[in-house]
Amino acid sequence: MASIGFIGLGNMGGPMAANLVKAGHQVTGFDIVPKLSEALAATGGRAAASAAKAAASGELVITMLPAGPQVRAVYLGEEGVLAKAHKSSLLIDCSTIDVDTARAVAAAAAEAGFDMLDAPVSGGVAGAEAASLTFMVGGEAGVFARAQPVLAAMGRTIVHAGPAGNGQAAKICNNMILGVSMIAVCEAFSLAERLGLSAQTLFDIAGKSSGQCWAMTSYCPVPGPVPSSPANRDYAPGFTAAMMLKDLRLAQQAAGGVAAPTPLGAAAASLYQLFVDKETEVLDFSAIYRLIGRPDRKK
Ligand code: NAD
Repeated sequence: MASIGFIGLGNMGGPMAANLVKAGHQVTGFDIVPKLSEALAATGGRAAASAAKAAASGELVITMLPAGPQVRAVYLGEEGVLAKAHKSSLLIDCSTIDVDTARAVAAAAAEAGFDMLDAPVSGGVAGAEAASLTFMVGGEAGVFARAQPVLAAMGRTIVHAGPAGNGQAAKICNNMILGVSMIAVCEAFSLAERLGLSAQTLFDIAGKSSGQCWAMTSYCPVPGPVPSSPANRDYAPGFTAAMMLKDLRLAQQAAGGVAAPTPLGAAAASLYQLFVDKETEVLDFSAIYRLIGRPDRKK
């Protein structure tokens, strides 16, 4: 069993760290919100008083932070991971961040003598709680092999995507497909309704035809056909629209950097921006049906 420092114990990091404890690892965690560090201690882990102390405590250091700026600060700051961790520690950043920051931090880590992986996840809070996350991992193959047993305590599918930054590249490409396909599904169900075709009938047909996709058959944005989807609980998240917007923006940023044409990704980012600006509630990303389908419109 390994000693692990875990920094960032929010909606995802909290249950991920708890699953490492459950698997028998010695986990020392830190979050700038003290009650989150205390919550880890209540599950059998230890609460550290600072990121530096958590970083210095483990053979592995795992981070699960909001975005690129926090990752830069936690790794590169004066009291940060690169300054305080043991040189033999393996560093794993599971946050979803921009590819450039992931590669810059990995390069700084390599220069300081550390092995590092970017390992963003998909599967949401439910996947973090159930230890069924998918990890998309960027970094050297030998380092990936070293990390695999620990990642397996938090996830079910662990894929090596190539060199540093490729985990983030896989994550934003996947979520760009998801954002675009969710909007396409919303448009099709809205059109069907106006043509007199019921949501259930379209679902039964398209779900078995070439229009089939995860956004429809596992996460249908229209109430009814998929009982477990957020549409049936007033779009309580789930994966929030704000998080989808974050990932679509990261995809646009990356596409701009390599001149990749992504017109549908750009349109999806604009529509999610419009939706997030207009909505006052924190809603699941499938709630974009309320913008696209306008189910409450006057007939
Ligand atoms: P969150 O905001 O709940 O958790 C982030 C935590 O980091 C917070 O508790 C915050 O206090 C802490 N933090 C910020 N700066 C810190 C610092 N300097 N030192 C220590 N702790 C610090 O967010 P989350 O939902 O847990 O998401 C974490 C990451 O995972 C994000 O990058 C997100 O895009 C990604 N992600 C989230 C989901 C999801 O469904 N929530 C799914 C996949 C990926």
